[in-house]
Amino acid sequence: MTHNAITLEDVCVRYAQRDAIHDVSGIFAEGTLTAIAGPNGAGKSTLLKAMAGIVKPYRGRVTIDPCFTNSVAYLPQAASVRRDMPMPVLQAVCTGFWGVAGERGCIDAAMKAKAAMALADVGLEGYENRQLGELSGGEFQRVMFARLILQDARILLLDEPFASFDGATTAKLIQIILRWHKEGRTIICVLHDLLLIRKYFPESFVLAGKCMGRGHTHDMFEQKLLSYDLDMAELHTGIDNHRQLHHHDHL
Ligand code: ADP
Ligand code: MG
Repeated sequence: MTHNAITLEDVCVRYAQRDAIHDVSGIFAEGTLTAIAGPNGAGKSTLLKAMAGIVKPYRGRVTIDPCFTNSVAYLPQAASVRRDMPMPVLQAVCTGFWGVAGERGCIDAAMKAKAAMALADVGLEGYENRQLGELSGGEFQRVMFARLILQDARILLLDEPFASFDGATTAKLIQIILRWHKEGRTIICVLHDLLLIRKYFPESFVLAGKCMGRGHTHDMFEQKLLSYDLDMAELHTGIDNHRQLHHHDHL
């Protein structure tokens, strides 16, 4: 039987008295591969954080089907992650095992071998002993992706995973996402590239403060909710954006 992996009911999240997302509802069925699209400031990251349990809605509800409890992995938007931790790459990737090994659990040789394989999967073979702080933005993001592979979660929440990648790296990671999709995992991915959305993401969720539309990607294009001609910024947010706000969401 297929579960509703994630159910959103009238989810509202606000920062400093201003709504970032408003009355967002929708169901993400188990095994679906969904793109979340929308202009800058549309609340895409906020929605993903609400699904990951990192921010709490002040109204409405996010429900993760109990059979996926403890099997939700979240890849934050690269810009929000601190990269100056003094830590070798292999160790950083192995934090993906915390779910099974526990924060102080030991990482054995088999786990290290898996971590090295995950690094190879993202095109970083031989990077095991490099320091995180020495990596380029794109390399660091690939390390985070390798960590995600080890988490082996049934639900994956990815916030602009390709933002700092070239075409070849994006293609490699798309293949990993498609493999996860074949394995029946539920994947929700924020991204801007409409060509990628159209080609690889069967479902779309268009957000601009509120949900503008959701369903089959093909239909979203038919209805012009997604369109190569439309500047995403033209979508109304439905929320007045007068107050200046400060970002402090470092992870
Ligand atoms: P997107 O990912 O679609 O660009 P975000 O979810 O990051 O949008 O942000 C939605 C709105 O909420 C924006 O107006 C943003 O400035 C605001 N916002 C996001 N995070 C915070 C925060 N930690 N504190 C205050 N305002 C925030
Ligand atoms: Mg964002």
